[in-house]
Order: sequence, then C-alpha cells, then structure tokens
Amino acid sequence: MFLPVIFRFDYRLYSLPLRTPLRTAHGPWTVREVILVRLEDEGGREGFGEMAPIPWFGTETVAEAAELCAKFGDKVSAESLATLAPQFGCVRFALAMAQSEIRWAGGPHPAGSPKSGEGTRPTGGAPQEAGSPRVPLTALLPAGRAALDVLRDRLESGWLCFKWKVGVEPADLELGLLDELLAELPPYARLRLDANGAWDRRLAARWLQRCADRPLEFVEQPVTPTDKSALFGLAADFPVKLALDESVVRLDEARRWQAEGWPGVFVIKPALAGPLDELAAWAAETRADVVLSSAIETAVARRAIVRHALAHPALVRRAPGFGVGDVFGDRRHDGPATGPVLDQSWADSINPADNWRSLPC
Ligand code: MG
Repeated sequence: MFLPVIFRFDYRLYSLPLRTPLRTAHGPWTVREVILVRLEDEGGREGFGEMAPIPWFGTETVAEAAELCAKFGDKVSAESLATLAPQFGCVRFALAMAQSEIRWAGGPHPAGSPKSGEGTRPTGGAPQEAGSPRVPLTALLPAGRAALDVLRDRLESGWLCFKWKVGVEPADLELGLLDELLAELPPYARLRLDANGAWDRRLAARWLQRCADRPLEFVEQPVTPTDKSALFGLAADFPVKLALDESVVRLDEARRWQAEGWPGVFVIKPALAGPLDELAAWAAETRADVVLSSAIETAVARRAIVRHALAHPALVRRAPGFGVGDVFGDRRHDGPATGPVLDQSWADSINPADNWRSLPC
C-alpha cells in the first residue's frame, strides 16, 4: 500500500506595480497580482510555483485562487492537488510546477531531453547546437506608428520575429502602417499581427484580403473569441494563417478547438493553461501548431516555462512571445534582460527560493 504524499504548503500574494501601464481592451493595467506558492515534502525538498491569473482574459480571479490556497491550510496531499477542477488553470499550473521541482530536485530536469521524433527545430531563427538549445523570441511592437521606430531598433539588435498589435487605431491608418512595416522588414524576418478580437467579421475580412499577398506569419485573434463560425469561416476564406489566443486560454479549450478541426495556430500562455507537462505532451502527441506567449508572469513562472520550452521542440516550432521587455522594472520579477535568442543560461540565473525569501509580502 502506498502512503499518501503530503506537502507543507505556503502561499503569498503580491501586488507588483508595472513599470509602464499596459494598454488593454479593459483599460490600463498598472498592477500585476500574483500568488507565489511553496511546497515542501517530508524530506525537506522545496518547490515553488506561481499563479498569475488574468480574469478579463478568461481565467480564475486572484481572489478565487487565494481562496483555494486558504482552504488548503498548511498541508496538502498530492492526491488533492491532482483533482483540482480544470477551470483553475493558473492554480493547476503553479502547483504542478512546484511538485515537478520537488520531484526532480537535484536530478535531471523533469522535462528531460527532447526525444527524437517529438518535434522539429524552431524555424526562422538562430540554429540550435546539439546539447544547448536556443530559441529565437518574438519582439512585441507597440500599437500605431510607434511600431516603426521599435522595429528598426530591434532589427539592429538582431531580433527576427515581431508581433504588432492592431485594431487599436483606425483601420485605414493601420493598413498604411502595415505596408511601411513590411517595407522595413528583411526577407528573413517575420511579422505576426494581433487584433485581440477587436475586428468584426467584415473588418477582419477586409484586413485578411489585404494580407493575402503579404508575407505575414499569422494573424492572431481577428474577431471575438467566442465567434466560432466567424473564425472558422475566415480561416477557410483567406490564405493567411489565423491564430487563436483569447479563444484558447486553457489547454482543455485548445483541445476542443482542435477536435473541431481548427486549421491554424494555437497561442498558448502556459501560465494560464494548466500543468506544463500536459501542454508539452499535447503539443508533441497531436503536433498542434503552437506558439507560446507571455501572460506577464514573473521570472519565477517564466523560468519553469522556458526550461520546458527548451526541452520540448514541439513547443517552440514558432518563436515564443517572450520578448515583452522589462515589465516590472524590478529584476527580481523580470529576470535578466532577454535578447533576441533565449537559452538555458537565462533560466539558470533565476532562483525562485531567493525571490520567495527576499520579497516582502
Ligand atoms: Mg494575443
């Protein structure tokens, strides 16, 4: 008979001011609330996790996550953590991450080594050397004309993949800017657009018509996330690849769209989607066309995500959207500045235990 695995459990809620407020469809975002969790097994090994909900994006709220944490008390069983309801994607991500770190404390990383046949190398970026995977990242361009200056600057620094937010300024202005951006883009670089669901079907059709003969990597969330018939219709009507983001916040939602035959890309914010192991297994088994993206998580969660991404080629066939720059303005939360290419040294430089012990709560 197996004895139940029991962990000591602790959690802390942080309100972290953002260096510059982020523009969202729901107004400026000025403070990032996250919950750091700590598990310790009976052998004294500890593991950390991070809950970084974005309720207006479709996740649980921070209050709901905190309520669950309060209910756990100071001891939790592995069994109870395994049966958390699927709608708690952020809580499940954090607790799986912490357990995974404990399980492998002092041993090889849980993600292991990439298995042959599991996926292909990332494309469109720096080559991978055997034993030291490196992935190119996507730089985020600001909405409107400001994108041009940022694009020139990032190209000079060696960035190869860009994402531009659209659906913010009037369409005529943005369509003109699109051609200015493409004129600056060398043939080896890539541009993806993100409308964050801001277009109606008619405007989306106008954009996609315009994009049809332009070299775009994909267009992300052209219309509102729940309008399945518009999304499938647009994907069928235009040659440009479409990506779902807000439609697929959790992995179970991505699975549903996939089962219904979604022909495009899945933008997955791992910190919102659920356990990293489940995400990696899904991407490898189904060969889903995945691009990883930031949920404005802190370096604690990003470290785990990056380690997984580097170990699972199926997760990084497309350049992850981690080039969001300094978000918090505090290195403990941002981690070291990232260049156009990421490797293991970035993750190795972050120690979640230091963050846990040094941060006031
Ligand atoms: Mg998006």
